[in-house]
Amino acid sequence: MNKKYKIFLTQSIHELGLNKLSEECIIEVKNFPENVSEDEIIKYVKDVDAIITRLPRITRKIIEHAQNLKVIGRHGVGYDNIDIKAATEKGIPVVYTPEAPCEPVAEHVIGFIIALSKNIVIADKALRKPTWIGWEVRHKYIGRNIKEKTLGIIGLGRIGALVAKYAKCLGMKIIYYDIYRKTDLEKLLDINYRELENLLKESDFISLNVPLTKSTEKLIGEKELKIMKPTAYLINTSRGKVIDEKALIKALKEKWIAGAALDVFWEEPISKDNPLIEFDNVILSPHMSAHTEEFFIDAALTIAEDVLRVLKGKKPLYIVNPEIYSSKDFKE
Ligand code: NAD
Repeated sequence: MNKKYKIFLTQSIHELGLNKLSEECIIEVKNFPENVSEDEIIKYVKDVDAIITRLPRITRKIIEHAQNLKVIGRHGVGYDNIDIKAATEKGIPVVYTPEAPCEPVAEHVIGFIIALSKNIVIADKALRKPTWIGWEVRHKYIGRNIKEKTLGIIGLGRIGALVAKYAKCLGMKIIYYDIYRKTDLEKLLDINYRELENLLKESDFISLNVPLTKSTEKLIGEKELKIMKPTAYLINTSRGKVIDEKALIKALKEKWIAGAALDVFWEEPISKDNPLIEFDNVILSPHMSAHTEEFFIDAALTIAEDVLRVLKGKKPLYIVNPEIYSSKDFKE
């Protein structure tokens, strides 16, 4: 087949996605680190039809240098690493894979809830220390039941709603806060809406499931942490900057809350001198809550499909900036 399109990938994706793209396109794949400079990316994009990125930033300068660019693909759901405004101004659709990470991230949140309430990680670490004796660990760490505890979900979108569904199976009481009240989901999932302050006051576990935007940066700071119960846990699988990390460290030191489970951090990867590493009552994972085999296949196939759809003039399945299109733009 005559390969009509050129696609540049800042990082590799699952081979099933690469194969799908290669059938019709010339692809160039780099394995750049997340913090690769825009000038490095610019070297490769001058005449490409599409850019697919995972973590590296696609800035206005990159978009302006890619003179043939027709579509940007984000393998994943958070698109805060792409200058959407710049893409939209140039009429370039940004497509993404919002469904792929939902199950794995929601399952990770449930894993965090179980591990926190049952002291699974802390007991495991204690047993490995050469100093433990007899039943010391067993008697020191008394867990708590999950049934009938209150889970407060901040951001009842795709992931938040799935967390609510799974947590219901554990017998939890679910409340949520979102900038948009979702009465249909309230009925469907048997959950209740609360203003942010009330959610902070009532919850035994709080799960952050919002995107990173101007309105969510430092959504949880000193004031919010002080409102939480001293027995409550904070869980973040959204974006690190949704929490004021310095305030969280203070809250943990001064025991305003019982602990935390974090998949995302202010700076990633988390550095070895980040004080969060020192707390026994904090569970850490390295931004891997979406990372399952199924996710990588699903995300790669979805992004390949949608990038090809745009290149062929078809309507994309998952678009971040639909306002660039009018309905007559598509051949179906
Ligand atoms: P979504 O867009 O379906 O849902 C986000 C929800 O947050 C929406 O209901 C929205 O109304 C709400 N919201 C937005 N701003 C808010 C605010 N200021 N206050 C309260 N609510 C607000 O997104 P999703 O698919 O559920 O994903 C949520 C986020 O999870 C993503 O944006 C991404 O940053 C993060 N994520 C992380 C990983 C990971 O590997 N850790 C993987 C996937 C997604």
